[in-house]
Amino acid sequence: MEDTYRHKGMRRKLVNEIRKKGILDEEILEAIYRVPRHLFLDSGFLNYAYEDKPFPIGSGQTISQPYTVAFQTELLNAKPGLKILEIGTGSGYQACVLVALGVEVYSVERQRKLYEKARIFLPHLGFQAHLFYGDGYLGLPEEAPFDGILITAAAPEIPTCLFQQLKTGGVLVSPVGSGDIQTMIRYTKLKNGKIAKEKFGNFRFVPLLREKAND
Ligand code: SAH
Repeated sequence: MEDTYRHKGMRRKLVNEIRKKGILDEEILEAIYRVPRHLFLDSGFLNYAYEDKPFPIGSGQTISQPYTVAFQTELLNAKPGLKILEIGTGSGYQACVLVALGVEVYSVERQRKLYEKARIFLPHLGFQAHLFYGDGYLGLPEEAPFDGILITAAAPEIPTCLFQQLKTGGVLVSPVGSGDIQTMIRYTKLKNGKIAKEKFGNFRFVPLLREKAND
C-alpha cells in the first residue's frame, strides 16, 4: 500500500494528459491526482495504472479510463457537499475521485465480491463513501433525493425510478445504448418536472445488468 514520489510523478503526468484531452476543471484534476489509482490494480500492473485506459479488475469488470471518470464527474457538476448516487461501484475508483472532491457519495454494486472488496479497501485508503450491495436499476430510494446520479455502466434505457430519486435541478449522467458503443447523456430534472437531455459523444462501457450475479 505504498504511494511513493514515483507514483505521484506518474499521476501528475496522467493529469496533464487528461487536461490536454479537454478536462479543464482544476478541482477535478486535483481529485484525480489525489487518488492512488495503482492501488486499485494488482501490483504487477503498475505500468498500466497511470495509462489513460480502462483496465480489467476481475469478475468480468473494468476500472474506468481516468479521462472518462473526469469527464463524467465534470458533467455531473460535482461540488463539495453535494449528495451523489453512483450506480456501479466496481473498483471504487470513481467513488474515491468524487470523495476527493468533497462529494457525499452513495454507491451501489450488484456483484457481491466487488462490493465486499470496495467496502474494506476504500476506508483503508482513507476515502469514506456509503457503499451498498444491490441492484442499481432500483436506485437507492431510502437515501433519495440526490443532487446527481452517475451510472458507470451502459444502460439500455434509464429506469424511471432514478429520475424520481433526483432533486429538481439535479442531473443524471449515463452512457446510454445497448450496443458496444454508447452515447454519453446528461439528463436534467427541470422545475416543471420535465427532463432535459444533452448528448456528449460516444463511449464504451460494460452493460448495466438486470439480474443479480450468481455469487
Ligand atoms: N465505477 C467503476 C467502474 C464500473 S464498471 C470504477 O470506478 O471502477 C461497471 C460496474 O457496474 C461493474 O462493477 C458492474 O458489476 C456494475 N453493475 C452492472 N449492473 C449493475 C446494476 N444493475 N446495479 C449495480 N451495479 C451494476
